[in-house]
Amino acid sequence: MMRAHITPFIDDTHSRMQARFADICQEFDFSHFSLAAFVDWLERKHGKPILFCEEQLPPTFFGAWIEADDASVIFFDKSAISLHRLHIQLHELAHILCGHKTICITDEHKRAYALGLLKAEDLLFRSSQTSVKEKEAELLAVLIQKEIYKHKRHHELDNAITAYADMHELYQALGLIR
Ligand SMILES: [Zn+2]
Repeated sequence: MMRAHITPFIDDTHSRMQARFADICQEFDFSHFSLAAFVDWLERKHGKPILFCEEQLPPTFFGAWIEADDASVIFFDKSAISLHRLHIQLHELAHILCGHKTICITDEHKRAYALGLLKAEDLLFRSSQTSVKEKEAELLAVLIQKEIYKHKRHHELDNAITAYADMHELYQALGLIR
């Protein structure tokens, strides 16, 4: 999720995302929404744990998502306030829900990082999505948020997921923190 200006929706993205959202509603019951339950549901569907990492991101980023062999990792900017943090998290989850692809961390990345040939920032930049995919994720995140409000589950919006404290080792192995 880069801090880019998003152009008005003049294509069929809106109707495609509404159809995708209708499919999600068939599988997930928003009347009992909590972000943790939503992430649990998506982890089962996606087949991997989804981990959240709070970092000081480069100025052009609010959030980012990368894949590792055994986990999906969502980064969010540590300076984001709680409601914005939740939106960033939903936006990155929406990329996964849309079936978008992102950079997958390999041993080669880890080696390059260890040799100082690659910076964590570079990985985040390589995770950047095209503007069409950005629109899709943003629209789907907005549809999810609207549904949360419709079911008066917005008190759950105060519970944006904080970074998992026990993931330090994984982030280090990925070369994303020192
Ligand atoms: Zn995005």
